[in-house]
Amino acid sequence: MYADKKPDKIDPNEKRLGKWLNCALSYEPLREPCVIDKLGNIFNKEALVEALLGKKLPKEFRHIKGLKDMINIKLSMIPGNQSDSADGATFQCPISGLEFNGKYKFFALKNCGHVVSAKALKEVKSSACLVCHKEFIDSDKMVINGSEEEVAALRERMEEEKAKSMKEKKKRGIDIVDGKKDCGNLEGNGKKSSNGGAKKFRAMDMAPANATKEVYASIFTSSKKSDFKETYMCRSLPLGRN
Ligand SMILES: [Zn+2]
Repeated sequence: MYADKKPDKIDPNEKRLGKWLNCALSYEPLREPCVIDKLGNIFNKEALVEALLGKKLPKEFRHIKGLKDMINIKLSMIPGNQSDSADGATFQCPISGLEFNGKYKFFALKNCGHVVSAKALKEVKSSACLVCHKEFIDSDKMVINGSEEEVAALRERMEEEKAKSMKEKKKRGIDIVDGKKDCGNLEGNGKKSSNGGAKKFRAMDMAPANATKEVYASIFTSSKKSDFKETYMCRSLPLGRN
């Protein structure tokens, strides 16, 4: 947040361009598969997933908590050699041919992931994706590398969605503790079981009417206690178990 206020020694033009050609995290040239976050930053999926798993995401990208916070996008390559392009762009709008180089506004469609220029969307005026014809609504359009105001609007929407899903999860009685679902606690939806927790599954209780209960239960590994130790070599051997 404060970084933006520091004097900028890098040519702002170059910086702007870099965001369109490179992964926002690894700064490596964009190559498929690419994803965007809910703020319209664009990443190489591999770099982002790796950083996420290694818990190495910098502060500015901490809103990305999992795959659900990434949108898979489909970029269109500029046909032929990319060096044909003066500024090194690799991708383009599949409809208008405008280069994905920071000079033009681009949207990713949330549902199908296709990335098309704002110009094409404006000119064709369609409620279906211009590439795959999947229907979309206005809020499915995610502006990529948007202006400060556009990013602020996306951030607001992201916060709203988050608040909404938190509310829904609470309604269903699932507590979120540090991002982990605590499914054992079903208080709040009136279905709390008599022994205070979720009832343990017992195969015997579920046996079909004309099956011998013990036999049916023996299908399940946990039905019978034994000191038989399982190793990877003998998993399928019933030795010592029956
Ligand atoms: Zn599409």
